Amino acid sequence: REPRRLDVESPRGAYAIHVGAGLLADGRQLAEAIRGRHVLIATDANVARIQLPVLEASLRRLRPDLVIAVHCMPPGEAEKTLGRWQEAVAALAKLGATRDATVVALGGGVVGDLAGFAAATWMRGIDVVQVPTTLLAMVDSSVGGKTGVDLPAGKNLVGAFHPPAAVIADTAALSTLPARELRAGLAEVVKYGAIFDATFLDWLDDRAEALLAGDPEATAEAVLRSCRYKADVVARDPFERGDRALLNFGHTFGHAIETEQGYTGATGGLVHGEAVAVGMVLAARLSTALGRAAQADADRLLALLQRFGLPTRVPAGLDPSALLARMRLDKKADAAGLRFVLWDGAGRGVIVRDVPESAVMAVLAG
Ligand code: NAD
Ligand code: ZN
Repeated sequence: REPRRLDVESPRGAYAIHVGAGLLADGRQLAEAIRGRHVLIATDANVARIQLPVLEASLRRLRPDLVIAVHCMPPGEAEKTLGRWQEAVAALAKLGATRDATVVALGGGVVGDLAGFAAATWMRGIDVVQVPTTLLAMVDSSVGGKTGVDLPAGKNLVGAFHPPAAVIADTAALSTLPARELRAGLAEVVKYGAIFDATFLDWLDDRAEALLAGDPEATAEAVLRSCRYKADVVARDPFERGDRALLNFGHTFGHAIETEQGYTGATGGLVHGEAVAVGMVLAARLSTALGRAAQADADRLLALLQRFGLPTRVPAGLDPSALLARMRLDKKADAAGLRFVLWDGAGRGVIVRDVPESAVMAVLAG
């Protein structure tokens, strides 16, 4: 099956998203996306074991002219820190990276966000090619140009808008992804249906088994459709002054959970996609409570997320008032009061200001 290509406008220029099985072994799209001679491949220890040798071999075969260095970090959300960013830019310095150097971000959203931020800040911005290896990164984080790191005080508090020079999504890489991470990625896929297109929720419901089993056709189609939903809204609103914020459906709640748990997804807490699944259920409930949507819509979303094996309840032991305090600090809040992405029913996301804290507390405690 031929790789598919989607062209996306961005403030840094147009870029292509390539989706297909075997793109890393092939290497052509990647080789073509690199302009200068210096390349820093940023990755994590899991991906370094599995996908890195394939990618490196392709690059060395097709681009013997390149000077390549590898920067590898330990896996996990807890590593998306300023300390790891500093190591990445130090690696660029050691490589002698000039303004035409390229960072290749090979990994999940953690590597993509961190390596993208290193590229955004090195000499005020060099190319980053996103090579997502998790479903979540393929359908969401690699597209759209948000990069950054977490602080103990909150998720993604330090960052930059820095669109990629290309996105290369090799769906064959997903064959080694742990089932839990696959399900976490499906949460962000469900998100697009929830905010943009109720028929996509039906499509997902029909293909739930196939997607969970890693069926190549269904997976490639889900990735492409997701990238299209995301690319469309990002093209209209690259800096999140309006509509793009719809993509944060489930995220105000989800980020509060992740932050409150200290980014311990790998060691007992929820990973990002799981926290978003819980957050979407809460956002749907809040919408019902505020009279914006029917209970049936919330029930339907809950059922789909459960079918994908995702968590749908706030983890035991998290204090609702502590979560509320976290939400006041989230970037999605503003001075006027809590701002939430809710929905007016399936497929109709809406940004709502001045949501009363009492309503939020009721949903959190329920
Ligand atoms: P992740 O990067 O931590 O990857 C999940 C795990 O899978 C890691 O242990 C990783 O080592 C492993 N892994 C990756 N690819 C693999 C493969 N092919 N085979 C086996 N193991 C593999 O997590 P994620 O879910 O990809 O990304 C979550 C992050 O993305 C969060 O920090 C979130 O804030 C961010 N995010 C950013 C955006 C954005 O617009 N920039 C959007 C959504 C999410
Ligand atoms: Zn997300």
